[in-house]
Amino acid sequence: MRILLISDVHSNLEALDASLAAAPAYDRVVNLGDIVGYGASPNEVTERSRALGSLLVRGNHDKACTGLSDLEYFNPVAALAAIWTQQTLSPENLEWLKAMPAGPIPLTEAQNGKGGGESPASVYCVHGSPLDEDEYIITVRDAVEVMMRSSVKLIFFGHTHLQGGFLLGAEGGRAIRPEYASKDKAETVELPLDRETKYLINPGSIGQPRDGDWRAAFAVFDTDQYVVTYHRAPYNVAGAQKRILDANLPERLATRLKDGR
Ligand code: ZN
Repeated sequence: MRILLISDVHSNLEALDASLAAAPAYDRVVNLGDIVGYGASPNEVTERSRALGSLLVRGNHDKACTGLSDLEYFNPVAALAAIWTQQTLSPENLEWLKAMPAGPIPLTEAQNGKGGGESPASVYCVHGSPLDEDEYIITVRDAVEVMMRSSVKLIFFGHTHLQGGFLLGAEGGRAIRPEYASKDKAETVELPLDRETKYLINPGSIGQPRDGDWRAAFAVFDTDQYVVTYHRAPYNVAGAQKRILDANLPERLATRLKDGR
């Protein structure tokens, strides 16, 4: 089975559509959260996400934009965007986002009982960390602590907007960063997984990458081959920026998209 892994779409319709167009054939979708917040297309992106279905995990912005959490830990720009999003979402989309479940969620829920490949019970999906849905796993030290404390072999996470992840094998822990040949074309990097190694895999952010690469980031997990393929897809950044400016959202939310920061 091939699983499309998407995360941190952040109301960026142009980036989501370009990613779906660039993705190879897949059987199920795992959405690691932060569907809304920052961008200017919350209703369109929520509707696409509802239609894609499969397994969903809520993100901190999904909570903040639907009033489930307060804006105390948000910077002023993020808070402004969250308030705008809450006012812009249709009542139906708002209720749907509000009902998204918290992680960790086993991948079996995306597979509807279909087996094959790595024992599905040993694969989990979270937004931040399996220990705390709002926690950022940024350093190797953060990641090793999580992997040491968990018996789970493979965890898919988002939240940091950094494509790649971490592994913990016989030689210790290290970061994984896919290396691409270009800065502006559609590209893929394959990561064959080893069954004796623990992994934390981040497909990256579709709608607001922060790893210095402006292209939309996502990944595909082949459960039979036990391979993760990272993808980058160019998209219409100018279109997404124009929507943000037309909505009178903070200008910084538009400019940062081209820098991938
Ligand atoms: Zn996010």
